[in-house]
Amino acid sequence: MPQQKLNKQSLGQGQDPTFPRLLGERLCLDFVNSIEGRAGPQPHDFLENYEALVHWGMHASLLSKEEERALLQLAQQQPEQAEATWAMALRVRDTLYSIFVALARGEHPTPAALRALQQAYLKVMSHAELTPSSAGFTWTWKSTLTLDRMLWPVVQSAVDLLASTVVARVRECPGCGDCGWLFVDISKAGKRQWCSMEGCGSRAKMRRLYQRQHRQNARG
Ligand SMILES: [Zn+2]
Repeated sequence: MPQQKLNKQSLGQGQDPTFPRLLGERLCLDFVNSIEGRAGPQPHDFLENYEALVHWGMHASLLSKEEERALLQLAQQQPEQAEATWAMALRVRDTLYSIFVALARGEHPTPAALRALQQAYLKVMSHAELTPSSAGFTWTWKSTLTLDRMLWPVVQSAVDLLASTVVARVRECPGCGDCGWLFVDISKAGKRQWCSMEGCGSRAKMRRLYQRQHRQNARG
C-alpha cells in the first residue's frame, strides 16, 4: 500500500495543534499515542467520541476536508453505528498498544492480540483493490466512504511494521515515569530514548539537574 503523502508538518506536529503530536514515526504508533500520559496518574484520551476520531483522522492527514465533512454527516445520520465504530477503534488501539508495548519491552505479544489484529487486517483489506502503478500493480484504498475509513491505513501500518525489520526498534518513552508513548527509533545510532527531546527529554534532564543540586545542597 503506498504511504499516504505526508507533508513535513504532519510528520511531527500533525494538522491540529490541539491533538497530540505525531512522533511515533509510524501511523499505528501515532494512533496508539492518542492518549497522553498513559503511564502517569492522569492519562488524557483525545479520542473521546466518534467526532474526535474523525478529527484525529484529519490531524494525521488520513482524511480530506470533504471526507471529514462527509463522515461527520454520516455519523449524524447513523449515530449508533458511529458509536460502535468509535468503540471498535478504541479496541483496535488497545490491541496495537498491547502488541507494540510488549515488543518494546522485549516480550511476546499475546496470541489473542495478534489474532485481533489479524481479524482487523482482513476486514480493512476488503476495502483495498489492486490498481495499475508505475511498478506494475499496487494496493490502493477504494473510494467508498465508511465510518471506519481512518482506521484502514492505521491497521495496514501496524501489519507493515510487524512484518518489517524496524519492529526491533519500537521503543517506549519513559518520560518521568508518566509518558508511555511508543515510537520507532529511526536514529542512526539507535539510541533515541524519548518521544521528543524537547518534551520528555528535557523534562528528564531538568529533573536530573534538580536532583543533583538537591543532593549537593543537602550535603552542603
Ligand atoms: Zn515521552
